Amino acid sequence: MKELSVDQATGMIIAICDAIIENEPLLTEMDSRIGDGDHGIGMSGGMSKVKSLLMDEGPFDDVTSLFRTTGMTLLNSMGGASGVLFGILFFGGTKGLPPSKTLDGKLLATIMRGSLEAIKDRGGAQPGDKTMIDAFEPAVIALEEMSHEDDLVSILQRAKNAAKQGAENTKNYVAKFGRAKSLMERAIGYEDPGAVSVAIIFDAMHQYVL
Ligand code: ADP
Ligand code: MG
Repeated sequence: MKELSVDQATGMIIAICDAIIENEPLLTEMDSRIGDGDHGIGMSGGMSKVKSLLMDEGPFDDVTSLFRTTGMTLLNSMGGASGVLFGILFFGGTKGLPPSKTLDGKLLATIMRGSLEAIKDRGGAQPGDKTMIDAFEPAVIALEEMSHEDDLVSILQRAKNAAKQGAENTKNYVAKFGRAKSLMERAIGYEDPGAVSVAIIFDAMHQYVL
């Protein structure tokens, strides 16, 4: 598969919503260990809003407005720091892009790179700070490295593996942000919940194109 139509891309976002909703208990447990326990509820609440909006309002005209609407819905419904950051994950990279009727590996890499840079600007975190960026940055690099390829399945497989590995690596880090920061070395051994959410998002994209 080389590219997704707007309808298929909408289906892929709905698959992301389902995956996050299904993993709410896991994300809650993870954030309870090193955070304040609200990450599962926040993410699944936001994704439920996105899902019902996409099912009620579709079909979308173009991929760019699909990603923008998804991100703005997360931003407006989740609240808190992570609502902004996961909102930007979807809409940050759409800024200035022309409408597109299809989503291929190159466009996905462009959108996600823009979103990553916007998240770094907004939140100030860098790789190694035990945040979602530790999963997102390797996934974006994988998308870029694979963007000469045509097959979305192999592109997303690499991105998903990179995100999963990145999330696992956060076990080894002390946190520079959020409540986990005050735990210092005691946060070592636990994955960052936001990074796990990013891994779930890329896994759902890969599953969708299989
Ligand atoms: P809150 O931190 O407000 O309780 P959540 O629990 O929903 O929000 O989300 C926590 C996640 O947000 C963390 O696991 C981390 O991945 C991510 N995060 C927090 N601060 C930042 C930041 N400055 N930059 C990037 N990601 C961040
Ligand atoms: Mg939290």
